[in-house]
Amino acid sequence: MATKADYYELLGVGRTANAEELKKAYRQAALRYHPDRNPGDKAAEEKFKELSEAYQVLSDAEKRAQYDRYGHAAFEQGGAGFSGGFYSTNFEDIFNDIFGDFFGGGGRGGRQAGQRGEDLSYNLELSFEEAAFGTEKTVAVPRMIMCETCHGKGAKPGTSPKTCTDCRGSGQVRFQQGFFTIARTCNQCGGQGTVITDPCTFCRGAGMTRTTAPVKVKIPAGVDSGARLKLRGEGDVGLGGGPAGSLFLLIQVRDHPLFTRQGADVVCEIPIRFAQAALGAEIEIPTLEGKIKMKIPPGTQSGKVFRLRGKGIASLRGSGRGDQLVRVVVETPRQLSSKQRALLEEFARLDGADVHPMSKGFFEKVKELFG
Ligand SMILES: [Zn+2]
Ligand SMILES: [Zn+2]
Repeated sequence: MATKADYYELLGVGRTANAEELKKAYRQAALRYHPDRNPGDKAAEEKFKELSEAYQVLSDAEKRAQYDRYGHAAFEQGGAGFSGGFYSTNFEDIFNDIFGDFFGGGGRGGRQAGQRGEDLSYNLELSFEEAAFGTEKTVAVPRMIMCETCHGKGAKPGTSPKTCTDCRGSGQVRFQQGFFTIARTCNQCGGQGTVITDPCTFCRGAGMTRTTAPVKVKIPAGVDSGARLKLRGEGDVGLGGGPAGSLFLLIQVRDHPLFTRQGADVVCEIPIRFAQAALGAEIEIPTLEGKIKMKIPPGTQSGKVFRLRGKGIASLRGSGRGDQLVRVVVETPRQLSSKQRALLEEFARLDGADVHPMSKGFFEKVKELFG
């Protein structure tokens, strides 16, 4: 052990370096020599181990004081010190402290990253009006929540999980294959770094329980069938400090007896009487917000579409509303009283083809085609 390099020299810092300086120096050096960056490079791996050891000692006030006093000898007496390699139980904590923000926490399995909860999806049926104006719904989705008995730890209250012996708490097992150092998730603990020896009786060690606790959701105005709303964090709870999954609501809008939808426009069909169409009238129109009156001019043809501005559905993005499109359908009377029949026959006698511009145009086209 006499050849061991000085910890301060290794990290390239002065003996009075503070915690921040130590951390910075270690981070720079460790990133350079990290095994993932230097696959198969034995020298780099050795250097990385030394750096990690140096940092672990110097970043711990007590160990640092011992080191300053006795040098490497402080840790060579067996005991609780730091003897072999860098896989000590709290190495992962240091590693996470230093690298957590570098690797984003997601990619490096193991207990520090945790496991993200499952995403859930739920079909939500809305009425036409609810979709048009938006609403607040309470949905009861079966999902996993954190076990309250063990606070998600999985261990019986009063006990704590034991550090995994296979991976010594790192959650990963490294092994050499040819030139490569390969890390795989530890089988023994499933990457958690700890093993529960005395499981919580309520959740049987899972750390979570199934529930159908209701979730309140705000449905924005203007959603339509097929829309998918994402509620971040409302899925299953994460494991080992991982984030919760998302809840996806798949929207299905029920048909309306009067209205159909074209994007943000509401379409409806209104039957009118033959005499109303000819003479003009004021008719009642159902809208999403109740009935309103609408004037139809004399001589309105069947199929004519009137546009009621701003009476449609709120636009999902941005502001404003669509329109209501009212298509009038002229009804031909089916059953006539004798009086009506007499009047219509009188009407027909007075009714020359020349007073109807539309049918005049039509018959001219027929004449052009067939002679
Ligand atoms: Zn393990
Ligand atoms: Zn529990």
